[in-house]
Amino acid sequence: MQQHIEALNDSKYCPLWHDQDVRPDTLPPLREDASCELLIVGGGFTGLWAALLLKERQPDADIILIEKTFIADGASGRNGGFLSSSLAHGETNTDYHFPGEADQLHELGQQNLAELLETLERYHIDARYEKVGQLEVATNPASVKTMRAAYEAEKARGDDVVWFDQEAMRAQVNSPTYLAGFWHRDGHDGVIDPARLCWGLKEVLLKLGVRIFEGTALDCIETDGTDRMKASVAGAVIHSERVLMATNGFHSVLRKIRKTVIPVWDYQLATEPLNEEQLESIGWHKSRHAIDNHANMFHYYRFTQDNRITWGGGGAVRYYFNSGTGPDCADIPERFEQLSREFFETFPQLKGLKFSHRWSGIIATSSRFCMVPGVAHNGRVAWTVGYTGLGVGASRFGARIGIELLGYQPSDILKMQFVTKKPLPWVPEPFRWLGVTITQRALVKADRNNGKRGLWLQLLDKLNLGFTC
Ligand SMILES: Cc1cc2nc3c(=O)[nH]c(=O)nc-3n(C[C@H](O)[C@H](O)[C@H](O)COP(=O)(O)OP(=O)(O)OC[C@H]3O[C@@H](n4cnc5c(N)ncnc54)[C@H](O)[C@@H]3O)c2cc1C
Repeated sequence: MQQHIEALNDSKYCPLWHDQDVRPDTLPPLREDASCELLIVGGGFTGLWAALLLKERQPDADIILIEKTFIADGASGRNGGFLSSSLAHGETNTDYHFPGEADQLHELGQQNLAELLETLERYHIDARYEKVGQLEVATNPASVKTMRAAYEAEKARGDDVVWFDQEAMRAQVNSPTYLAGFWHRDGHDGVIDPARLCWGLKEVLLKLGVRIFEGTALDCIETDGTDRMKASVAGAVIHSERVLMATNGFHSVLRKIRKTVIPVWDYQLATEPLNEEQLESIGWHKSRHAIDNHANMFHYYRFTQDNRITWGGGGAVRYYFNSGTGPDCADIPERFEQLSREFFETFPQLKGLKFSHRWSGIIATSSRFCMVPGVAHNGRVAWTVGYTGLGVGASRFGARIGIELLGYQPSDILKMQFVTKKPLPWVPEPFRWLGVTITQRALVKADRNNGKRGLWLQLLDKLNLGFTC
């Protein structure tokens, strides 16, 4: 058997982050009718932050949060834990979709991250934050050129950025594939343990009096008289003044949300803890950089506190026909074998290292590649969905927009195009699947072709649609 397949033999299908002793018990489902001021649907970062932000703004707010399985079972407990200040997924994307708002979004993103970290301190939430910045590596000459140009521009602007040429880069992290590195070390960007963040928020919310019901799936919502909403879950009804939908990439009861996001599957692996010899062979443990490679189908990888490597993304990312989210999309051997092969191409000296965990999750992808807020039912229902692979930090800001859209201390951010501008809806099937699949193949080809983009991607670039997650 090939070594990269053997490395997966003892892995268990479970997010590394879920597999910890500190994981709290799942709370019981809602079994009888209830009423509240605000109903939050979804127990990921968006839902949890929304509840906390509202409790901080209005301590007497009466909130129920329902989660269909358990807190952190969605993307929030399955991600890479890369904590970024970016709200709109990079400068090019920001300039295209929200012209003139780049500086404000930059500031809001920094403020959001600073407040997020301050909140963790205030409530003693140990999310294992490490301020390591973000390191992009080049693995082909075209990427070196593009990254260098970006480095020069950011340096000239006064950002705290560092350039590593090939030798310096490999001294930081030893991979024979690296040609250069570009380290953004300003601000608060870093890594966290995402499940611990969810669990910490859950504990705080319970102390603040938020009623949380796990194993409680929303089946439908409808108006209830002139100024209330009625939400049905199995065996019970919840009456509320307002509803926040924080269901991200999952199938939504609201058609508007279904047209806004598509679920894209992303797969991840975690290794067993590296021993001294393995650590020395890559040297990465000294800097503990959070890394991604400059490519269309990029990998993102990082160290954990017990010196494992988590490794995700790359060519394994997939969209399945008809927005598939069933269990048949989750544990697909070929995806993990591909990830494993790509891991050992990057770190051949780690041959023999085994993977302990493999898992997958749904990335809610919007056509503007960043969060999309919206309202329905005369402003009594709001949502923020579609963070497109960059939602660990941004979801707190999405939660803020969500509660402000519901009328809780609205601020000027609601006037920004970032909030008011509607994204292009995703086209129906089979065009959706065809479009995404053709684009993904073109992106893979461009990566193999030293970054050279073919005609299809050039066309999408003109519309700013040639992007992954
Ligand atoms: C594999 C992977 C890696 C990622 N890596 C990163 C990263 O490193 N950095 C980064 O910034 N972002 C990353 N992301 C994106 C980030 O995790 C998400 O943007 C973020 O977690 C979204 O949070 P959320 O609360 O909006 O959605 P989710 O965490 O998906 O929460 C939605 C919740 O709603 C619940 N739900 C759905 N339908 C119903 C219903 N009908 N009734 C009740 N509950 C319902 C779901 O069960 C789920 O728990 C990654 C995502 C994935 C999948």
